[in-house]
Amino acid sequence: NMLNPSAYALGANRSCIRDLFEYGCQRAAVVGRENIYDYSLGNPSIPSPKEVDETVRQILDDTDSLLIHGYTSAVGDYATRKAISDDLNARYGVSTDPEEFFIGCGAAPELVSVFRALAVPGAEILAVAPYFPEYKPFAQEAGLEFKVVPADIPSFQINLTAMERMITPSTQAIILNSPNNPSGVVYTRETYQKLAAILNKKAAEYGHPIYIVSDEPYRELAYGVEVPFLPEIYRDTVICYSYSKSLSLPGERIGYVYVPQKATDGKALYSAVAGAARAGGHVCAPSLWQKVIARCAHLRPDLKSYDRNRKALYEGLTRMGYEMAKPDGAFYLFIKAPGGDANAFSDAAKKKDLLVVPGDGFGCPGYFRICYCVSLEMIQKSLPVFEELIKEFAGRTA
Ligand code: PLP
Repeated sequence: NMLNPSAYALGANRSCIRDLFEYGCQRAAVVGRENIYDYSLGNPSIPSPKEVDETVRQILDDTDSLLIHGYTSAVGDYATRKAISDDLNARYGVSTDPEEFFIGCGAAPELVSVFRALAVPGAEILAVAPYFPEYKPFAQEAGLEFKVVPADIPSFQINLTAMERMITPSTQAIILNSPNNPSGVVYTRETYQKLAAILNKKAAEYGHPIYIVSDEPYRELAYGVEVPFLPEIYRDTVICYSYSKSLSLPGERIGYVYVPQKATDGKALYSAVAGAARAGGHVCAPSLWQKVIARCAHLRPDLKSYDRNRKALYEGLTRMGYEMAKPDGAFYLFIKAPGGDANAFSDAAKKKDLLVVPGDGFGCPGYFRICYCVSLEMIQKSLPVFEELIKEFAGRTA
């Protein structure tokens, strides 16, 4: 056939997460939504801060309609980039500049642009398991060789020994995500410092930079732990940020890429990111939402309900004997499958209308993910089902 085979395969074979979610919707129509325990999909369950909606109304009232809906510059409105830069500078005591920001349409297309900007022939990118499954098609379609550093079990920090062994002269970048989907783990400053030492050593040895691409849609979703500002620890860091989770705006498609000018070839890399976006058909990020972010970049989510869910699940499941990494961020738990076979566990759970995602797609078999963007009521009703399952699987081995 005359189609691009990898594009066809990506479109024709749906993700396991989507399949589970669709299944949940079908079952809900049969047995009622209240009888489905759907932990499959990471769609925020806290509303945007009320200031966000108020700002939308204000902009509609006080701004010329042609400006609200018109094209902006491809890199984004200056006022938006300035507001983001000011906010980061105030929070982290850094000195970012508006010229270092590219306003994009959320982390996914921003990652694609950065990957394409880095894709020289033969270049490799290393991801750290467990990782967001879309990294693989994004990297491969960009032309990067995609390699996976095995998980650091049970802490789910970074397996630095394995990483150091896997870095080669072709390693162009490392893709990191903290707070992490699916583990909920936040990488510590100490982890980053050790990682930076390894990358600096390897970069010097090979005579070229090794960039970190830091995917940070969950930056604001941390429960009492520090999320270090990585460019301050490792110079050659590019950040892909998104307001999808931090302001609960996943359908609005707004975020930014931060390319520090002090990074190796920083200015050229910024141009390459802009050029890669252009080649991918980027025109500008949604104009109305750029104007909202220009006024709302300082807002933070109210994490109370996520935190309450997190505690209810972590405490409830740990008491039953489930094992998982300490979930300090994002809105996921990554749990060791009783019996060792996460697919068997997920299938058995599905029969009880409990939907959990096996870790295979995240590069970490034997674990399953639950997303706690759900109601506390659903959590409470689902806990006895988790208890039945761990009893059912007790003594089994994979
Ligand atoms: N990266 C990670 C780790 C995610 O979990 C997600 C969405 O769930 C994305 C990127 C994409 O987010 P966005 O809506 O900003 O494209």
